[in-house]
Amino acid sequence: MKQYIVALMLACSIQGHSQDVKQATFVPPFDFTLTLSGNFGEIRANHFHGGLDFKTQGVIGKPVRALADGYISRIRVTNGSGHVLDVVYNNGYTTINRHLSGFMPDIARRVEKLQYEKEDWEVEIIPEPGEYPVKAGQQIAWSGNTGYSFGPHLHLDVMETATGESIDPMPFFKSKIKDNTAPRAEGIMLFPQPGSGVVGGSPERQSFPINTARPIEAWGVIGSGIKAYDYMDGVHNRYGVHTVVLRVDGTEVFRSVVDRFSQDENRMINSWTCGQYMKSFIDPGNTLRMLRASNDNRGLVTIDEERDYKFEYELKDAFGNTSRYRFTVRGKRQPIQPLGHREKYFFAWDKTNFLQEPGLTLTVPRGMLYDNVPLNYEVHSDSGAIAYTYQLNDEKVPLQGDVSCVLVSDVSRLPTAKYYVARVTPKGSMYSAGGTYEDGFMKTRIRELGTYTVAVDTVPPEITPVGKNTWGRNGKVVYRLKDKETGIRAYRGTIDGKFAFVRTSQLDQIPLGV
Ligand SMILES: [Zn+2]
Repeated sequence: MKQYIVALMLACSIQGHSQDVKQATFVPPFDFTLTLSGNFGEIRANHFHGGLDFKTQGVIGKPVRALADGYISRIRVTNGSGHVLDVVYNNGYTTINRHLSGFMPDIARRVEKLQYEKEDWEVEIIPEPGEYPVKAGQQIAWSGNTGYSFGPHLHLDVMETATGESIDPMPFFKSKIKDNTAPRAEGIMLFPQPGSGVVGGSPERQSFPINTARPIEAWGVIGSGIKAYDYMDGVHNRYGVHTVVLRVDGTEVFRSVVDRFSQDENRMINSWTCGQYMKSFIDPGNTLRMLRASNDNRGLVTIDEERDYKFEYELKDAFGNTSRYRFTVRGKRQPIQPLGHREKYFFAWDKTNFLQEPGLTLTVPRGMLYDNVPLNYEVHSDSGAIAYTYQLNDEKVPLQGDVSCVLVSDVSRLPTAKYYVARVTPKGSMYSAGGTYEDGFMKTRIRELGTYTVAVDTVPPEITPVGKNTWGRNGKVVYRLKDKETGIRAYRGTIDGKFAFVRTSQLDQIPLGV
């Protein structure tokens, strides 16, 4: 009941402020000059970087301060983000502080007690709103380098409490950070559209140096993309670009403004980007709100006159520092290959798609694809393999969510728990895509269309002692746990038969952190 009332009051107070995010103020998390090693929206594997990474002068153990008045709402220890602290502030924002080295004494004792009770390193505590109130500027934790982190820093996510959406924290700290350096571009990519466009005589996407002086010949419908990074004064790091605008012949066709996203939108980064290139057109199934097309064709450009088309990119950071890049696309009539029907399977982005083959059933529900895909489907059988290898497509196709994939495995000599669905990389190596065995079938959920087979893992994990001769001296017992194929599912350490506190650092298969 108590929680219900608090939530209701919060919702009311947010309503009044939601028009202007800059109305709320935050004190900085540290008492030293703020510099960043990462910014909001940087392109990461399958997700946007969700917050700011504050440098901590190369060391761990800096006091992290509360940004405003509020309360600690969640306390966690995780393998991915290390020690994590969530704070709900009265101004309508919630923050997540990641990779901390330690909590304040009260909380630290409670966490350690729970870890022993659960016999688990990973724990979560959701305190009552009144339990740990904080005041602006008060120390709430120590900064660290725990979890999936490559150097001491504080990762700070800022969410709008009412919507849960991640927002760019930069506006709150702008006056404390120095930046006069504009973003810089590294290259252009042109995307002739299948069956309707061609670039330099080819239907394939092509990259060009950023200072391409010679006009690029094209015909039909093409998309454009740019690879660019932002930089800041006095540091060597590179960051994501806040605003990208594409104009053709002086008219805006596309704009991306990386300022907020919901969790549902996070995976759409796979649709917006092609490697490190940001596309300046929007796939039909991509609803990412940060992308805006001003023309009536999703930002795609139609080259249908034999003349020069002047392309101009404008790149801007959160401080307004701006750079511009220009190149010319020359309209030149050339044959466009029609989209053939040689592909057996054509998956439409706006439909539910099925693929049924001997030994394989794949269902891709509507809403999972961002664009149409003519699948480059092939089956291979290798002698000695326990199942066929199914190439759903030669180039991986990202999906908005996990989809069901069922493969037949006709071998039942081994304990079924040792089978797994393997993702086969273009180079031929395999990694686990999970899966459970059921009546002769392996069932799993996959999150991209690529190449899959069934494999068997009969090799137990390796356990290697590390620095054994120092164990007595520093009071720490260290083992490295490693498993080649399917990764480590569970581990437990005991000394004389009693649970020993196991603190993980780098596991074999740590989930990708933020
Ligand atoms: Zn981070």
